[in-house]
Amino acid sequence: MPAPAAKTLFISDLHLDPGSPEIARQFLGFLDGEARTADALYILGDLFEVWLGDDDPDPANREIVTALRRLTDGGVRCFVMHGNRDFLIGERFCNETGTWLLDDGTVIDLYGERVLLLHGDVLCTDDLSYQRLRRIVRHPVTRWVFRHMTLGQRRALARKLRKGSRMHVGETAPEIMDVNAAAVTEAFRREGVRTMVHGHTHRPAVHELNAGGDGARRIVLGDWYAQGSVLEWSRAGFELRALPR
Ligand code: MN
Repeated sequence: MPAPAAKTLFISDLHLDPGSPEIARQFLGFLDGEARTADALYILGDLFEVWLGDDDPDPANREIVTALRRLTDGGVRCFVMHGNRDFLIGERFCNETGTWLLDDGTVIDLYGERVLLLHGDVLCTDDLSYQRLRRIVRHPVTRWVFRHMTLGQRRALARKLRKGSRMHVGETAPEIMDVNAAAVTEAFRREGVRTMVHGHTHRPAVHELNAGGDGARRIVLGDWYAQGSVLEWSRAGFELRALPR
């Protein structure tokens, strides 16, 4: 029997949250099912709706940690990137799950093609107030402060930030919250790649672009709110698929 073809899977924006256990159920099924047939799984940000820190004993989160561990123990390499919701994922999470933390904006070699991986929020440069907030909460000093707050303090702060985020999304035009075309072109040029994969905007699509004369491709992963979304990549090519619930 021939060996199954090597493949790599990409997902993002699951926004796992105790308030929507059906997403966690689908994700747990995915980890124990399709993900096991892959060589590698890349989670490109916002796996969790909120991640207060690796010391959070929340049982729903622990179940996810255990399931990721089963996957990596089974020989599937798994990489996790911070999103704007779970940027406090740290070293302890990686040790417990057997995953590797990837920098936002990492270039990988995918079956001979160089591909840029991003969460996607850095490309949304039209949203000035979001970018301002991002600079503050991701600043090393702010992260130091987060690390020294109690779990209860972090929980209260996260509630406040989410409320602010809901208000901002409610009153900001959708096109402002999408990627900026010039930021996309600049990322292609700077990294010298012709393909990028990102999430964050919750607008799954394969965009064929003309960046600097050469053909370029921007693949956007979907969120998992109403169904799953996965990008499957093998030597034969790629496919962006919805995963019915
Ligand atoms: Mn996001």
